[in-house]
Amino acid sequence: MSEIEWTDTTWNPVAGCTAASSGCTNCYAMHMALRLEAMGIKKYQNLARRSGKRTVWTGSVNLDEKSLETPFRWRKPRKIFVNSMSDLFHEKVPFEFVERVWHTMEQTPRHQYQILTKRPERMLEFTRSRIKDVLPNVWLGTSVENEETSERVSILSKTPAAIRFVSFEPLIDSVGGIDLGNIHWAIVGGESGAQARPIKEEWIDEIHALCQLYGTAFFFKQWGTWGKDNKKRSKKANGRLFRGKVWEEMPEIYFAR
Ligand code: SF4
Repeated sequence: MSEIEWTDTTWNPVAGCTAASSGCTNCYAMHMALRLEAMGIKKYQNLARRSGKRTVWTGSVNLDEKSLETPFRWRKPRKIFVNSMSDLFHEKVPFEFVERVWHTMEQTPRHQYQILTKRPERMLEFTRSRIKDVLPNVWLGTSVENEETSERVSILSKTPAAIRFVSFEPLIDSVGGIDLGNIHWAIVGGESGAQARPIKEEWIDEIHALCQLYGTAFFFKQWGTWGKDNKKRSKKANGRLFRGKVWEEMPEIYFAR
């Protein structure tokens, strides 16, 4: 089971990525890929490397055909975060492979699939050119970390999907005034780790107010390494309270019988 608060498990038909924007600077998947390689796991070979004191992606991406079968083996319904170790819409992932991922999702309607990308323009191209019908169990999302990346929301808004969601994590600046009119769910979280950049309560307030305005479900995931008092401490110590409560709103979903 996953430690990510808003999902049950992760599924990685693709491994490896490259940075798309400043939200990627301290990418968790990059560090994890290096660790998994050191443990001898073949899927994660040559995806990341050390460069001075930093870890960087090498630019290689591995398609894991065998993992396309994995969700069939999970008998009980799960919420599944697709590609926590990559970006399904990375330019090195051919649409033919994405179609095979779609096929698995279509054949396992008992599960809910959550796909999050920093490349929503490619996701839009894929859904428009390759997908005939919207799958009721597939949620499509994009990440936004600041105002410069907020354009991703308008691209997502045009993308056909049962559920559209935005992950404002790591939130590293104000996102400005975004139109969430076509967005069902928003996740907000601060960054974690030694190099984490601070989050500010007023930036969360802005997003929370937008969610109330547009009727978008609001999920506050965590403060991360920086607390609301702008002090650094452990992620656990900073906790998950925003304005005195835990926010775990979810979008309304369709359940296959
Ligand atoms: S898109 Fe996601 S997986 Fe890829 S580098 Fe950025 S944060 Fe990491």
